[in-house]
Amino acid sequence: MFTRASALLLVVLSLITGMGAPISAPAAQFQAGEFAVEFFPVAPYHIGDILSARVTYTGELPADNWEITVALAVEPDEVLQSTTFSQHNRQAIFYWIVDTADMAPGFLSFQFTLPEASLTWTEGVHLLPDPGDRTAEWAVAHSTCCTLHYLTGTDAAADLAEITAAVESRSALALAQFDEAGVLDENPLTDPLPIVLIPVVVGHGGFATDEAVLTYSHHNWTGINFEILAHHEIVHVIDRTINTNGPRPAILSEGLAVYLSGGHYREGDPLERAAALLALDLYLPITDIVNDFYAAQHEIGYMQAAALVAYLDLLYGWETVIDFYFNLPEGPDDKAIISTASEARFGLSLAELEVDMIAYLTDLHVDSNVISDVGLTVETYDMLRRYQTLAIPSAHFRSAWWPHPRHMRMQGIVGDYAYREKAPLHIIVEHKFTQVHDALESADYTQAETLLTEIDALLTRVEHTDSLFLFETVLVKIHTLPRQLTRP
Ligand SMILES: [Zn+2]
Repeated sequence: MFTRASALLLVVLSLITGMGAPISAPAAQFQAGEFAVEFFPVAPYHIGDILSARVTYTGELPADNWEITVALAVEPDEVLQSTTFSQHNRQAIFYWIVDTADMAPGFLSFQFTLPEASLTWTEGVHLLPDPGDRTAEWAVAHSTCCTLHYLTGTDAAADLAEITAAVESRSALALAQFDEAGVLDENPLTDPLPIVLIPVVVGHGGFATDEAVLTYSHHNWTGINFEILAHHEIVHVIDRTINTNGPRPAILSEGLAVYLSGGHYREGDPLERAAALLALDLYLPITDIVNDFYAAQHEIGYMQAAALVAYLDLLYGWETVIDFYFNLPEGPDDKAIISTASEARFGLSLAELEVDMIAYLTDLHVDSNVISDVGLTVETYDMLRRYQTLAIPSAHFRSAWWPHPRHMRMQGIVGDYAYREKAPLHIIVEHKFTQVHDALESADYTQAETLLTEIDALLTRVEHTDSLFLFETVLVKIHTLPRQLTRP
């Protein structure tokens, strides 16, 4: 029987044999512990999980297409998969290495090898017994606009009729919005739009590949309105389908999606919300964020992007806005692209346009509720990302685990999106987030602030501990009870 002790021995041996072996550059420069391994689906792992691994190189060298292999530590010569590190993010990903269905609970150790560097080490997971209730399977429903992929036994499966009606009406609305600008010669959604509904949260409740992947859950702690999110993603798909000539700067494509879907996360007037950002001193100069739009504070960037599109619509009309956006010239960066086109069309550079927009926003009357809502929305989502970083990094958009759902469907794999076991901290914080969203929805800003303060206190306590195993002792006071008297 392969034991943990022998796994440890292997680690030690591999460190001794692997490190510093000058077989080929850059082997000699490797340091122990420069490779971080994460296993998925996220912990705790169970018999029945189909495990994947993501290896991140944290050292100084350029991880330039290095080859890496993985094997079970008990059969180190039988390579299960081989892949290379991405130059871009220094990560190597092994998708669905092994199905643990027929294994016994216990520690499962993997051997990772960089053959060219003669570097070998082992890492593994503790496999808990099969929970016995994991029966979800992929299922599909077809409607005129969309193909809905969902998992059986989930809230999406229960609400399929309502969801279908919602995506039908939202896609009809989105098509009408483009049609109004005179750019629809024919229906761009001849191939139904694939929408994947998952019960777990990844990112802010949705992400798009060539399929729109949306969280659908009765306990969605990201607080995002499903219909608005679906509309947002449908706009992206129509945009990508018909606006194929020239660039689509992110600030305009996201601005368009937020503007047409009626808001970011929730309904809201884009110009009023941008004016609130100015009043709160949260406004970010568009000329600063336009070239690296996705790096800007997320909520602020998206609200301002929508305001820019709304402002152009106000000044020049919808047809002109879409014609402008659909006919942008190529350029060195998004700022130059928009600025050149704006100058040619409106006689204003992007910087001049922004000066005018700020003057307009400054004069705009903003309801005090909108100011509170905008400020607290930014605070809420900053807090939500802080929580994800601390307690569920696989959901944070910068470290997300989001394998392509189509590949999973083809292989009948559901685990990466179907299940999340929650520690007490997850349950408590996520519940508080749903209460924050309810409070914002009912304009109870004092309550929202109180709840955010409570979440902040919890996260601060976790930040000062170094292990998630401390959740119970952090959160639950254990009372010392008097000893019970026993009779002889
Ligand atoms: Zn978007």
